[in-house]
Amino acid sequence: MLLPHFDYRAARSIDEALALANEGISSRFMAGGTDLIAQMRIRLKVERVIDLKKIPGLDAIAETDDGGLEIGATAVISDVCRHALVQARYPALVKCASELGAYALRNRATVVGNVCNGSPAADTSVALLCLDALAVAVSQRGERLIPLSEFFIAPGKTARASDEIITAIRLPAATSGMKASYNRLSRRRGMDLATVAVLTTHGGNAASKYRIGLVAVAPRTLRVPQAEALLDRQGPSAIDEAAAIARDTATPISDARGTADYRRAMVFALTLRGLAAVTA
Ligand SMILES: Cc1cc2nc3c(=O)[nH]c(=O)nc-3n(C[C@H](O)[C@H](O)[C@H](O)COP(=O)(O)OP(=O)(O)OC[C@H]3O[C@@H](n4cnc5c(N)ncnc54)[C@H](O)[C@@H]3O)c2cc1C
Repeated sequence: MLLPHFDYRAARSIDEALALANEGISSRFMAGGTDLIAQMRIRLKVERVIDLKKIPGLDAIAETDDGGLEIGATAVISDVCRHALVQARYPALVKCASELGAYALRNRATVVGNVCNGSPAADTSVALLCLDALAVAVSQRGERLIPLSEFFIAPGKTARASDEIITAIRLPAATSGMKASYNRLSRRRGMDLATVAVLTTHGGNAASKYRIGLVAVAPRTLRVPQAEALLDRQGPSAIDEAAAIARDTATPISDARGTADYRRAMVFALTLRGLAAVTA
């Protein structure tokens, strides 16, 4: 479908972007545009698109004073995956982000856009959720930090207010000891969203030693805290029980990508596979 007419503005600062979003017409912020433009072609009606890519410094990926990491709103996924600190301390993010789309798409799409889109099938959201990330939300009212555990609400719906820009994602400090395994099934590699995927991690600096994140099997990206706590108490001997808890936590739908029964069965199998890999 042809793209409908809209007012395109390239902001040069966050203040300018916020002012453009507060002029009483329906507007959307744009990072890579790989979700936004596709949605505007199909159904989304937007009068103004505010491009954030020309704001200087917004693509930075940098260590924070407390030893964590900040990923700027326009940092593209390829740069995140290539970054030495991300590779050393946040392997879960590298594994999940490397599975998003194809190479050309990752050169354009951003982590922040992936999170803001609010899809339960988003590949980077599950890693950021399991890593206890925070979204930095800025509006004309000021700045607030939104834990990703509170960010995802329903498909396409997040805790971000429509006039808030997510200027960055903040990750807490992590050691280099994390093991991560991302097991993902899709109809066509590089061209399709996950039908179902499971992230498992062990170690690093998380308060819980184990993390299990589920993709495309509920209205939002999920963790499985009950299974994580069981594994923390009992270790690898509880892998089967933890995978069963993960399967029972999932509330998938049937759609063109797979049936609910298939997805539930795959949550069990992929959780087992992932936990075996991170405890080996
Ligand atoms: C062919 C194809 C394959 C794909 N495959 C995958 C896949 O395998 N896995 C996957 O997870 N996704 C996939 N996607 C979806 C998409 O590419 C990703 O979600 C991507 O990360 C979106 O990033 P973006 O920078 O392009 O976001 P945009 O399209 O610019 O924005 C996405 C949404 O977030 C909002 N937004 C963006 N930045 C901000 C900000 N800073 N503050 C507030 N709101 C903001 C926009 O208004 C929009 O609603 C695919 C898309 C295509 C076209």
